[in-house]
Amino acid sequence: MSFVFSEEEELFRRQVQEFAQKELAPGAKERAKKTEVDMKIVKQMADLGLLAMNVPEKYGGQTVSWVTVGIAIEELAKADFTVSVLPIGSCGFLGQVLSYAPEYLQDRWFKPLVQGDILACLCLTEPDCGSDAVAIKTRAVKDGDSYIINGEKTSISWGMQAKIGIMFAKTDPAAGARGVSAFLLPTDTPGLTKSSIPDMGWPSAQRASFFFDDVRIPADHLLGAEGQGFYLAMDVIGVVRVALTLQAIGQAEGALAEAISYAKQRTAFGRPLANFQAISFNIAEQATKLEASRLLCYRALGLKDKGERNLKEASMAKWYGARAAMEACHEALLIHGQIGFSEECPAEQRLRNVIGSEIGDGTAEIMKLNIAREIIGKEFQPM
Ligand SMILES: Cc1cc2nc3c(=O)[nH]c(=O)nc-3n(C[C@H](O)[C@H](O)[C@H](O)COP(=O)(O)OP(=O)(O)OC[C@H]3O[C@@H](n4cnc5c(N)ncnc54)[C@H](O)[C@@H]3O)c2cc1C
Repeated sequence: MSFVFSEEEELFRRQVQEFAQKELAPGAKERAKKTEVDMKIVKQMADLGLLAMNVPEKYGGQTVSWVTVGIAIEELAKADFTVSVLPIGSCGFLGQVLSYAPEYLQDRWFKPLVQGDILACLCLTEPDCGSDAVAIKTRAVKDGDSYIINGEKTSISWGMQAKIGIMFAKTDPAAGARGVSAFLLPTDTPGLTKSSIPDMGWPSAQRASFFFDDVRIPADHLLGAEGQGFYLAMDVIGVVRVALTLQAIGQAEGALAEAISYAKQRTAFGRPLANFQAISFNIAEQATKLEASRLLCYRALGLKDKGERNLKEASMAKWYGARAAMEACHEALLIHGQIGFSEECPAEQRLRNVIGSEIGDGTAEIMKLNIAREIIGKEFQPM
């Protein structure tokens, strides 16, 4: 078992780091105020192949390990939170799930995604249910060669900007998880209206609600078979939620680096803050928790690379890592004193971002349910 990156992975990490620090870090603070992703940045990421990982080769993609995808996201997130997760958007949910679409739809949508011309989104959560995803109420009813969709989705990251989405709806409401189907949804389909959600973090991901009023989509936009949607989602969730955690960890590592640099130059009581044991021990503790979180994440991705089940490990990584990232950003802010509480200092934005990571793609409680079920047994499922 190796606890260090291979030479090839380390080289890739340095390349992404160089790009992120040179191209993303300088404008990240300004971009964080915007409610739209800057597509010029997305294009730059695409030119480096960062949106093509694990996308089929015929669309310009290449097969890489999930550990490699994680490395990219962690390094990007140290510099710019919101765009850092786009690689998992193209290669995770979309790359894997879109592969179930007919060839002509893959041709239509994969290329612009991989080339950084458009964004995509995921529409699962509804106003009445998030954690209990099987309880969704949005209906898809077959009508000739179409499905008619009615209902409401919410909390859709990039919802206002995305040109396509992967949308989940019930095709058989009585069948529980087996009644959930996945659809490819062009977001300009007539009958679909949107509204934006003003958020405390992730600003340029601009979450949205989608309202479906007799939205008709062609029947061949069904991904996989009817009733397979939930299982398609579960198949990739083990990498997607770890990637989101590495995004939060990368963001917190950036916060800690800024706090260290501040603690070295800011003086109080005649000496640099870094000379106070209370400050240096705090930094040491946060760095240790972040390192432990990274190891959990890369282990979960490593298991996925070996084709092994990783529900327990991915869930451990998600709750512990997102929490550690939030604590590290909070402590980094406090080390900055009063400046930390102002918009002058990046720590406040970093903290607001990683709080979102604690909720998105599964809360701590739901992750603990998964862990308990895996290690104690399904028959002792906590209520
Ligand atoms: C920044 C951000 C981005 C997001 N992006 C997307 C997106 O792109 N697409 C999308 O579809 N969704 C997205 N989401 C939604 C997200 O996945 C859900 O918010 C999440 O799954 C929780 O669902 P909920 O908000 O409905 O909370 P609820 O399920 O209502 O839970 C509320 C609280 O109760 C707790 N709880 C629920 N059930 C149990 C239980 N059985 N035992 C103990 N405690 C429980 C939860 O842990 C939580 O603390 C995003 C959310 C955020 C914050």
